[in-house]
Amino acid sequence: MDRVDTVVIGAGVVGLAVARALAATGREVLVLEQADAIGTGTSSRNSEVIHAGIYYPTGSLKARLCVQGRELLYRYCAERAVAHQRCGKLIVATSPSQRDALPAIVDKALANGVTDLRLLSRDEARAMEPALECLGAAYSPSTGIIDSHALMLALQGDLEHHGGLVAFHASVDHMRATAAGIEVHCADGSVLQARLVVNAAGLGACALAGATQGLPSSHVPRAHFAKGSYFTLSGRSPFSRLIYPAPEPDRHLAGLGVHLTIDLGGQAKFGPDVQWVHDPLDLQVDPSRGVVFYDEVRRYWPALPDGALQPGYAGMRPKISGPDEPAADFRIEGPAQHGVPGLINLLGIESPGLTSCLAIAEHVTAMT
Ligand SMILES: Cc1cc2nc3c(=O)[nH]c(=O)nc-3n(C[C@H](O)[C@H](O)[C@H](O)COP(=O)(O)OP(=O)(O)OC[C@H]3O[C@@H](n4cnc5c(N)ncnc54)[C@H](O)[C@@H]3O)c2cc1C
Repeated sequence: MDRVDTVVIGAGVVGLAVARALAATGREVLVLEQADAIGTGTSSRNSEVIHAGIYYPTGSLKARLCVQGRELLYRYCAERAVAHQRCGKLIVATSPSQRDALPAIVDKALANGVTDLRLLSRDEARAMEPALECLGAAYSPSTGIIDSHALMLALQGDLEHHGGLVAFHASVDHMRATAAGIEVHCADGSVLQARLVVNAAGLGACALAGATQGLPSSHVPRAHFAKGSYFTLSGRSPFSRLIYPAPEPDRHLAGLGVHLTIDLGGQAKFGPDVQWVHDPLDLQVDPSRGVVFYDEVRRYWPALPDGALQPGYAGMRPKISGPDEPAADFRIEGPAQHGVPGLINLLGIESPGLTSCLAIAEHVTAMT
């Protein structure tokens, strides 16, 4: 059996950020990735938005790690020349109840440490974005967009610079906690023994936790999958900032509503919607879902032309709460939580996981 100090399972943005941070402390780090390249999972099927940290419950890991992670990410992008843009976002109210709820969103943001969100009248919002229809808005200047693949390449480069490695076609089948460390059993029959294992397997993280002998079942949440489909806009984007519908007060949503994001090439897309599914590999976009998109988008952009939306791509949210439950927080659990020395599980790392990746990495490093 080969021995290695640290194994990180999964070469998505979170696994790579964690591996880089651990390697920077002098640890020997091996990343095991089942695919043949980095970032083929959720990390390349998302909105590529650097979130400000507005909506998450105050004090939650999502709120704290998003706010910290956002600043770390902007700094990292500047240092490592990762393409990004602090384009800002408007949260737009299209009904009186949404407009009345905007001040509470600003208060929530403040409680989370987001100090720059400010209310705009209808005219102020339309002065910024003339194509917009709304009754009022909140403006977040610290929201941005990022080239997530360039970010992952930079993280991998840093990891390798610190002597770490990513092994591809390395699928972990199960693990066993022993007195000597964690045994990592790969699908090809090879076994590694590690002093520290970080399970950053994204959509597969709960299954892997469940396949860890010695981990109490109370620390294995049930995995739920919520697909998010995007529709792209043909033609030029009428907006230069991201546009998010204000959440309907008292309506529990598993996502942030059908919003408009722009990529660094200026292409606009709408989405993601929310569709609970059983199969995490079900990534087809059903063109018939476009009908709902037209209705939702026309609330804030009435001029959306018929036929302008094309099915784009879909991503899968690795959820640990079901459709009728309140959204769960990230579950980042080490020995202090589950009692197994040398094991850290990262479970339910949905949005804002991309924004938070560097803060998650610092958090994990502090647990070791
Ligand atoms: C529709 C959508 C939109 C989103 N938009 C945003 C956004 O705008 N901003 C934001 O901050 N966040 C966003 N997110 C969240 C963000 O994309 C994720 O939190 C982040 O990408 C998770 O990264 P990860 O490394 O944990 O997982 P992944 O990228 O899924 O990586 C996990 C890796 O583990 C590998 N793996 C799995 N099982 C095994 C195994 N047994 N053995 C070896 N390897 C294995 C997989 O192949 C994969 O490469 C969005 C998510 C979705 C679904």
